[in-house]
Amino acid sequence: MSLNLAVLTTGDELINGEMADTNTMRIAQVLGGHGYLLREARSVGDDEGEIMQALRDLAGRRQAIIVTGGLGPTEDDLTARAAAKAFDRRLALNDEALRQIREFFRQRRQEMHPRNEKQALLPQKAQLIPNPLGTAVGFQMRCGNCELFFLPGVPVEMAAMLEATVLPRLDALSGGVPPRQERILKVFGLSEPKVEERFNGHPLPTGVCLGFGVEYPFVLVKLRAGGPEAEDLLDKAELHARRQLAPYVFGTGQETLAGNVGRMLTDAGLTLALAESCTGGMVSQLLTDIPGASAFLERAAVTYSNRAKQDWLLVPADLLAREGAVSQGCALAMAHGVREAAGSDIGLAITGIAGPTGGSADKPVGTVFLAMAAPGEEKVQGYRFNGSRDKIRLMAASMALEWLRRYLCAVQEEVH
Ligand code: ATP
Repeated sequence: MSLNLAVLTTGDELINGEMADTNTMRIAQVLGGHGYLLREARSVGDDEGEIMQALRDLAGRRQAIIVTGGLGPTEDDLTARAAAKAFDRRLALNDEALRQIREFFRQRRQEMHPRNEKQALLPQKAQLIPNPLGTAVGFQMRCGNCELFFLPGVPVEMAAMLEATVLPRLDALSGGVPPRQERILKVFGLSEPKVEERFNGHPLPTGVCLGFGVEYPFVLVKLRAGGPEAEDLLDKAELHARRQLAPYVFGTGQETLAGNVGRMLTDAGLTLALAESCTGGMVSQLLTDIPGASAFLERAAVTYSNRAKQDWLLVPADLLAREGAVSQGCALAMAHGVREAAGSDIGLAITGIAGPTGGSADKPVGTVFLAMAAPGEEKVQGYRFNGSRDKIRLMAASMALEWLRRYLCAVQEEVH
């Protein structure tokens, strides 16, 4: 059975522009990963009437609703009361909830504020959803044909409770078998139509549907299948898709390009040094976001000016005068320069014009040169990327990571 699901997030900060609603995104991602598709997402402010109306409206149309926010101890935390009123239940002190809240404080050797008792006031006949990370216990209640799950707004608490309690209960509601499973392949360097073209004449196994998403600059290829055979079908579909889309697939699910490059560098025991100009340290940032980056990243130099390129990377002054800082020659000299200075296995360099100004007829905005110096490989290439400054920089940084990934794939193949 495919559940008809909605999310309702509450909080003034979500609708007055103070804060992005990351809870909806997280819920959609987690549920999507388990085969559930959200049909609707809505946000309302801290207003009892608005919350009641949204709850009644959604409960009349959906089979399950996940509500977040407003379970705290303060006056603006209205969700439990609004839920009780919306569905004509009394608000009553839930002994088990109170015990869990007291236990939370006892374990941390903290005194409990009398206000926290309010968090144990729940609609009658509600089933608890334990909160291992905070005082706001969640609860579940059935209203007509709809199952409602109430979770706190704090993202880490919400996410932990979603995984630990809500998902298994949704699985039980949908008859034990998640209605639809999804596997996401992440692609860099092929547009959606080009991806689709590659399946022309090479269809996916019967029962597997193809969907798309974009996480700029990446295309997400979504393989979906339902029923008890879903896992097997998706394994087959993934193999088939990887073959059709090779060598453009860089990861699956929650994997990132930088994460995979970091893992491959570590596995290969190779070290890296970066020289970045127009990306201003973006590649370094993406790689150092990964814990353990010190295993492979030796250094990263942001060499924006010509002087920096000469001083730190020993790019010859006459080369800069002759070809300019945005040129094949300069990119290559930067890659060799940083590699030699660092004594690393790989030197990678980026130089380009991110715009919006600074372009010329022969080197328009978006002109970017990448260069790599590595054992058995010296490579330099110019690109013309499109779009805003942000997009050009992100594209250049991603392309640099993709170069590393392709190089490391080749290294892995040689080893095996
Ligand atoms: P508590 O009062 O115990 O913190 P709560 O259930 O009352 O829990 P809220 O007060 O609604 O939660 O939100 C707590 C914090 O969680 C907010 O200040 C905000 O930082 C964050 N938050 C709430 N809802 C969202 C959301 N939809 N997306 C991202 N962050 C959120």
